[in-house]
Amino acid sequence: YTPLAELDPEVKNIIDKETWRQFTGLELIASENLTSLAAMEANGSILTNKYSEGLPGARYYGGNEHIDELEVLCRKRALAAFNLDPAKWGVNVQPYSGSTANFAALTALIQPQDRLMGLGLPDGGHLTHGYYTAKKKMTASSIYFQSLPYALDPQTQLIDYAGVAAQAKIFKPRLIICGASAYPRDWDYAALRKTADAEGAWLMADIAHTSGLIAAQTLASPFAHCDVVTTTTHKTLRGPRAGLIFFRTDLPSAADLAKRVNDAVFPACQGGPHNNTIAAVATALLQVAQPSWRAYAQQVVSNAQTLASALAKHGYKLQTGGTDNHLVLWDLRPIGLTGSKVEKVCDLMGITINKNAVSGDASAQVPGGIRLGTSAITSRNMRDADVEVVADLLHRAVQLALLLQKEAGSKLLKDFVRAATVPQEGRVGAAQV
Ligand code: PLP
Repeated sequence: YTPLAELDPEVKNIIDKETWRQFTGLELIASENLTSLAAMEANGSILTNKYSEGLPGARYYGGNEHIDELEVLCRKRALAAFNLDPAKWGVNVQPYSGSTANFAALTALIQPQDRLMGLGLPDGGHLTHGYYTAKKKMTASSIYFQSLPYALDPQTQLIDYAGVAAQAKIFKPRLIICGASAYPRDWDYAALRKTADAEGAWLMADIAHTSGLIAAQTLASPFAHCDVVTTTTHKTLRGPRAGLIFFRTDLPSAADLAKRVNDAVFPACQGGPHNNTIAAVATALLQVAQPSWRAYAQQVVSNAQTLASALAKHGYKLQTGGTDNHLVLWDLRPIGLTGSKVEKVCDLMGITINKNAVSGDASAQVPGGIRLGTSAITSRNMRDADVEVVADLLHRAVQLALLLQKEAGSKLLKDFVRAATVPQEGRVGAAQV
């Protein structure tokens, strides 16, 4: 065994720098979290060496007795995490990521060129929910399927459920997708079920962002209303980077869903499962089953609500005026800033956020807001009082961005950028915790 530092100091150095960035920075990206060292240990394990195409008990390679045990355990924990009856639900734990989970789910449910409806990207939906622009169909979900996005009510900025029903009546989708990447409110899954039933469509929820909160029963559960539920495992669920697909097995209409989903994951969309990741997902799901998980999820939401009200006190505009979940969408247009500018200034201050479209933006390419999330800072034990300080720092960042915008091209801007980008060599030791 040759340690990484000796075998490949170049990669080790990059990992050390990123370690330093993560430990010293304020992580406010809503899709990120800090997975446990135990899950990372599983992820970095010898399981990465094993090929195991197929399913437990039916593999295309020998030597899979331990891998079978692992995958069965992971499935059991995934169903338990969401309180699902194994007689009514099944789960595939092999997807490499949320995007592949979603494409496999579409492959399982509908045929090429069939119609689907998902929340539009500029309104908070995800690329994999059928996104395309006037110029290009750039995601597989719009290249291989016909997609019609639904939207937010421009007044309330909430999902326009009546609008979805009206569009579906005309468009006749075979699939309706709910779930989002940037929607700060909970979903009315029952309303969408009604629309899906009226049009004979499948209903699928992508709970990538909120699954950790749904597992803790802090948000409404989609499972009573949906045929298929997909999620990533690395956002509020706090595991490694992967995806899960849950499917109903108890309805006559869903009689062959298990086979359809399993065949769609392998061989339709993927090859051999990443067993090291499946082990890490299982470990993360064990953590979700602990009584402490509920307290974590409640604190994530409380922190997001505190962040929202502290920013509102500063007079800033938030989409929907607040949040029910882990994220806050901050509309910067009233103060004349773009999301990119604030993201850049925050980067220089060691605060990691991302620019994001807000409802009514002319183009998702020039987003008028930023998205903030509290999952990672809550994993670092920040509480509401700490979040008040975070809100003050963000207020200062925005004030600074306004000043720099006014001084564009000036010496002040150049001096600031120089001072904020001091090399970080030699600081790494302290971060190796
Ligand atoms: N679905 C939603 C709602 C997401 O927000 C994301 C990622 O941000 C994904 C799917 C895709 O996940 P991944 O990046 O793991 O492919």
